[in-house]
Amino acid sequence: MKAAVVRAFGEPLVIEERPDPEPGPGQVRVRVEASGVCHTDIHAAHGDWPVKPTPPFVPGHEGVGLVEKLGDGVTHLEAGDRVAVPWLGWACGRCEHCVSGWETLCEQQINTGYGCDGGYAEKMLAWADFAQPVPQSVSAVDAAPLTCAGVTTYKALKVAGVRPAQLVAVSGIGGLGHLAVQYAKVAGAQVAAIDVTGEKLELAAELGADFVIDARKHDVGEVLKQYGGAHAAIALAVNEEAFAAVNSGLRRGGKLVMVAVPAHGTIKVPIFDTVLGGTSVVGSVVGTRQDLAEVFRLHAAGRTRVIHETRPLSSVNESIDDVLHGRVKARIVLDLAAGR
Ligand code: NAD
Ligand code: ZN
Ligand code: ZN
Repeated sequence: MKAAVVRAFGEPLVIEERPDPEPGPGQVRVRVEASGVCHTDIHAAHGDWPVKPTPPFVPGHEGVGLVEKLGDGVTHLEAGDRVAVPWLGWACGRCEHCVSGWETLCEQQINTGYGCDGGYAEKMLAWADFAQPVPQSVSAVDAAPLTCAGVTTYKALKVAGVRPAQLVAVSGIGGLGHLAVQYAKVAGAQVAAIDVTGEKLELAAELGADFVIDARKHDVGEVLKQYGGAHAAIALAVNEEAFAAVNSGLRRGGKLVMVAVPAHGTIKVPIFDTVLGGTSVVGSVVGTRQDLAEVFRLHAAGRTRVIHETRPLSSVNESIDDVLHGRVKARIVLDLAAGR
């Protein structure tokens, strides 16, 4: 089977021929059909973050495909089932986070495409308990971006506690942002979409944003304040200044939800404004299995649209470059089923 492998940080990925991986106890082998290119995979391939993966590794945590082989002890999945293999590849199931519905905070978790090989491959392994069944009416190419971009932004809106009639600012209309806009609309909010490219702002408006702010031309905080300030700001742009900009546009009592993870990112939070305004800053990381099940259910019900561009595995390096330069409409999905 073919896999795109990070051999060294910052180097182009290498397409390698590898033996099919053998599922261990509790695992399944998945024949990958589609695999989304999340900006996190680029951070992984560049070794951007303090906790780094160990090359050689296969990135990808939006892999969707058909179960092909069951490891010992797997009884709830069958060969031919379509599953999604998310970032949360495995969690312990016993710690305080796991047992309180916050498995995404488990300190022992193993992350797909980071702590174990991921979905930029024709075949991959998954822990059966964390491989999420995909409803029949949801295609593999739609399911792939929902598996990280979808679940992460859906969860971020839950963390923000968004309610109808609130103003939600979505900063960064990329893979994550194009879905964040839609979940905020599903929640009944008024949505401000912020980006630095005209095409992304147009897409946001098409997907339901009530107004858009071009951060190249306008002071984001000032514009949001003209609308009374945002009840919640979802920071998805891979840019430190963009975090500070939306934070300055919160209304009193508002919440900044940090989701993007720029390399070595820090922001200055003004103490006076935060205290007097009673605002808060909170981080949000992916979502649980239940969150992903809800994301798939919403999509199956026709409530969301996934904007994707499919490309072959061999385009992986060019695809990464296009994401880095903002040349992708929303999400690139590697099409592993092509030619089968
Ligand atoms: P992306 O590259 O598809 O989207 C980023 C968007 O931000 C682009 O549309 C870009 O034009 C826009 N942007 C750039 N500079 C901006 C600025 N100054 N103001 C406003 N917009 C700006 O990336 P993505 O796949 O959507 O991922 C976004 C980030 O989220 C990455 O850092 C990724 O690692 C992170 N992420 C976090 C989680 C989590 O669980 N917290 C999960 C997935 C991804
Ligand atoms: Zn991701
Ligand atoms: Zn745990």
